[in-house]
Amino acid sequence: MTIDNSLIKLESIKKVFYTDEVETHALSGIHLDIRKGEYVSIAGPSGCGKSTLLSILGLLDSPTEGDYTLNGQPVANLDHSQRARIRNREVGFIFQSFNLIGDLTVFENVELPLTYRGMNSADRKQRVTEALERVGMAHRMKHYPSQLSGGQQQRVAVARALGGKPAILLADEPTGNLDSKNGEAVMELLRELHREGATICMVTHDPRSEIPMTKAKPTNERNFLDIRAWSFFRHSSFGFRHYPEP
Ligand code: ADP
Ligand code: MG
Repeated sequence: MTIDNSLIKLESIKKVFYTDEVETHALSGIHLDIRKGEYVSIAGPSGCGKSTLLSILGLLDSPTEGDYTLNGQPVANLDHSQRARIRNREVGFIFQSFNLIGDLTVFENVELPLTYRGMNSADRKQRVTEALERVGMAHRMKHYPSQLSGGQQQRVAVARALGGKPAILLADEPTGNLDSKNGEAVMELLRELHREGATICMVTHDPRSEIPMTKAKPTNERNFLDIRAWSFFRHSSFGFRHYPEP
């Protein structure tokens, strides 16, 4: 643990996608600090690079330029398998479209990342059961994703993210495919996890978000930012918002 409790530090992150004849500058000059126990929301218009940023934070992709320190470790220039190993331990991902595997049961979906990690069967069972109990889905262990509602599937995806006890939960528009009631239930679950100590970084397409932003203030059409996040925020089309302490 570093002295300032920093979990994530991005410095001058740039991401360029090269396709046939087009260069897309998805991110340029991103600086971001996330400390342990914080709940950070990233807002911005469609196409501004939110998912790209989250993919880099979650080690699904690497930046074209810049430095990324995760839990004290430089991770910007790792190869694919090194990234996969750290991702498996440090990151829990929650996607808009749940991304559960259709021919695995709820239990097996939550178990899979722990199997990749090489955890033994008894420990896996305990972790999976705890995680499913935490999200209120233990009674559906033997169901398949198609037998669940969208809200239930997202709860299972949250359990899968929690099972590995990651350093950070990353959520990319986690309520985007849910109706407002189920969306609010998932948001409340994330708030509870934050109150229990989880560090969360969430992307939301909707700049209004479902959470009241007592500290957020819009500076212009494209930027929303928290006063506390101000110093970490430069030259980008994002807003970073740190939720109020519980
Ligand atoms: P958001 O999540 O904010 O809607 P994205 O991060 O998905 O935005 O995309 C940011 C920009 O990068 C967009 O212009 C998008 O078309 C481009 N982009 C994203 N992923 C790729 C990719 N794999 N190849 C080429 N361009 C991409
Ligand atoms: Mg996106």
